[in-house]
Amino acid sequence: MGKIRVEGLKKSYGSNEVLKGIDMQVQEGEVVCVIGPSGSGKSTFLRCINRLEDITAGRVIVDERDINDPKTDINKVRENIGMVFQHFNLFPHFNVLKNIMFAPVELGKQSKEEARATALRLLERVGLSDKAEAFPSQLSGGQKQRVAIARALAMNPDIMLFDEPTSALDPEMVGEVLGVMKDLAREGMTMMIVTHEMGFAREVSDRVIFMDGGYIVEEGPPAEVFGNPKNERTISFLEKVL
Ligand code: ADP
Ligand code: MG
Repeated sequence: MGKIRVEGLKKSYGSNEVLKGIDMQVQEGEVVCVIGPSGSGKSTFLRCINRLEDITAGRVIVDERDINDPKTDINKVRENIGMVFQHFNLFPHFNVLKNIMFAPVELGKQSKEEARATALRLLERVGLSDKAEAFPSQLSGGQKQRVAIARALAMNPDIMLFDEPTSALDPEMVGEVLGVMKDLAREGMTMMIVTHEMGFAREVSDRVIFMDGGYIVEEGPPAEVFGNPKNERTISFLEKVL
C-alpha cells in the first residue's frame, strides 16, 4: 500500500488538459525525483498531491485518505505534508524564528515554548543557528531556502514535496540546500522532488519519473533512467540537460 497513490489523475485548466492520466505510487520512505521539460505538468502534479489544485478526474490517496473526497479534512492531511517552493515564500515581516514557529503555534499544535525549541533545533539541523533573529531580507537565497525547509519541517510532516527548490539560487548556494535535502532523505523522509539537478536526482532518489506532455513517459531507478533510458523523449530530454 503506497503512502501516496495517484490513480488516473487528470487536470485541466479550461480546455487545456495539463495532466492526462497519471498513475503512480510512492512508498513510505521513498525518494522520488520528477524530471521533465518546462510545461510538462510537474508543478501541477505536485500541487495535486496536497490539493493546492482541484483535480478534473482520478484519485489522489494520501495515507489511505482520498484527499478530494469532501468528507476528508484536507487541513489534517496537509499537516503531514510539507511543501517547499522555488521562491521560498517566507513571511517577510517575521524573523526567521517566527517564520518557523508560526504554523505550529497558530494551528495550536505546539505551545510557544515548544515551537521555539523545535525551531531552534531545526535551525541547527539546517546550519542556521546564528540566524534565528534575522529577517528574510537579510538572508542569501540558500539561507532563505533552508529556513523554508525548516519551516516545513516544524509541523513534523511525514511527506515532503519540493518544487524546484534550487532553481532560483545562485550556483554556489545550490549545494547547501541539496545537502539538507540529502540528510532528510537519509533519515527516511518520504519525498517527491521536482528538480533540474540531475546529479542530485541520480545520487539521492530511489526512483526517477520523467514527465512529458502531461504523462509519465518513463520511470525507474536512477541508474536505469539516466544510464539506459528507453523512451525517445527521455533520451532527447537527457541529451539536452546532461
Ligand atoms: P512544469 O512545472 O512542468 O513546468 P506546470 O505544471 O507549471 O509545468 O504547467 C503545465 C501547463 O499548465 C502549462 O501549460 C501551464 O501554462 C499550465 N498551467 C499551470 N498552472 C496554471 C494555472 N494556474 N492556470 C492556467 N494554466 C496553468
Ligand atoms: Mg514547474
